[in-house]
Amino acid sequence: MDNLRLWHKFLETIKPSIGPANFKTFFPKTLLKSIEGDKVIISTPHAFAKETLNQKHLPLIEATFEKLLGKKVHVEFIVKELESSSKPEEDFFKPIQTVAAVLNPKYTLENFVVGPSNNVAYAAAQAVVQHPGTSYNPLFLYGGTGVGKTHLMLGIGNALLSKNGHLKVIYCSSEKFMNDYVTAIQEHKMGDLRRRYRMADILLIDDIQFFSGREGTQEEFFHTFNELQSKNSQMILTSDRPPQEIAKLEDRLKSRFTGGLMIDIQSPDFDTRVAILRAKCAEQGNIIPEDALKLIASSLDSNIRELEGKLIQILQSLKAQNLSASSENIATFLGQIPKKPVVSDHKQVLSIICSFFDISLKDLTGPKRQKELVLPRHIAMYILSEELRLTVEKIGQVLGGRDHTTVMHGRDKMKQLINKDREMQRMFIEVKQKIMS
Ligand code: ADP
Ligand code: MG
Repeated sequence: MDNLRLWHKFLETIKPSIGPANFKTFFPKTLLKSIEGDKVIISTPHAFAKETLNQKHLPLIEATFEKLLGKKVHVEFIVKELESSSKPEEDFFKPIQTVAAVLNPKYTLENFVVGPSNNVAYAAAQAVVQHPGTSYNPLFLYGGTGVGKTHLMLGIGNALLSKNGHLKVIYCSSEKFMNDYVTAIQEHKMGDLRRRYRMADILLIDDIQFFSGREGTQEEFFHTFNELQSKNSQMILTSDRPPQEIAKLEDRLKSRFTGGLMIDIQSPDFDTRVAILRAKCAEQGNIIPEDALKLIASSLDSNIRELEGKLIQILQSLKAQNLSASSENIATFLGQIPKKPVVSDHKQVLSIICSFFDISLKDLTGPKRQKELVLPRHIAMYILSEELRLTVEKIGQVLGGRDHTTVMHGRDKMKQLINKDREMQRMFIEVKQKIMS
């Protein structure tokens, strides 16, 4: 367990026994600094916190660590180095959310599996960790459900926190921001709301598409945004679509959101799905044969959350029946023989696509570029590549001698469309079913 994770566990464990008032007063801005042998060092925001924790709560703190680490430890407190510009005394009586307790330490950059669908976003994440608040502000991540937006965003937050544990990181869903705004108005506490959000060094807002149509919230957020940007606080926003496509979003926000770095995360390809499953198994100490992982990966093709859910479900059900996690048992569970296309021949695939769209093979593989032909062509490129695993060169060849870069472009375009456009997704699934059944 790394220090951040351990600290998170510690906070969770001590919270009920120390009581909410004490917790709020003393634990924001404290951090597990180091553990060496049996010596645990906790950094505190100032001398007052240090003294109080030491005099009043030391036995409980040591007992809590003992419970978590399974050994006796001596806890010492230090006053943090003055690395952040805020005045601790001033903030002290208005504690903001405890940073470490808010970010889920499960999501890190280390356990984010990188593949062609997300490598650009991952590189941007690294850049933000290197230079927060400068060039990529805001970082706007968008993509379909379960592709890893929240994971990547929190991964950045955690990486920044492990570089500097005193950063004020605020993570919230867009609903939370909206609710806070509404409550602040009702209770006449706009000042508090502003202070809270505008003091952030790092502000992470998830699923910002829900700001759609919320005029008051948008207005408030616009000013928060400007203030944070002007003091170089890093902002990361996620959304299920790019800003231009969020309905009822003020133009000035659209232009703010597009003004930093905008990146989409796409659905993971087969190899990445396998790699993610492999990583999730390893994390939990489960051993599953490679071909079984492939079976699971091929049973679902876009949503990683569902993929993970399926993995857990399989493991639990095998365990309940006292069965080993062998490929045979997993295949049985999935209720299927490995899902290979029934046709393994590209000619058949093309002919199924042609009959589905009611076009001729000559048109599909020919030079004409009408919309009615381009879409089926792109679908063909995508299926031949993802399902039949033909090389892009080969695909170019069977589609009437097209260049491999054209094929790559068409395939990726299709992937993106399927990811973004529900109508397209439905149609694609229909075509695929014809090919697979
Ligand atoms: P989103 O916010 O895009 O809907 P999440 O970030 O919540 O998706 O991801 C859904 C689940 O899939 C999470 O459990 C997350 O850990 C996992 N996940 C997504 N992408 C990856 C990845 N590249 N590597 C490892 N796990 C991932
Ligand atoms: Mg999310």
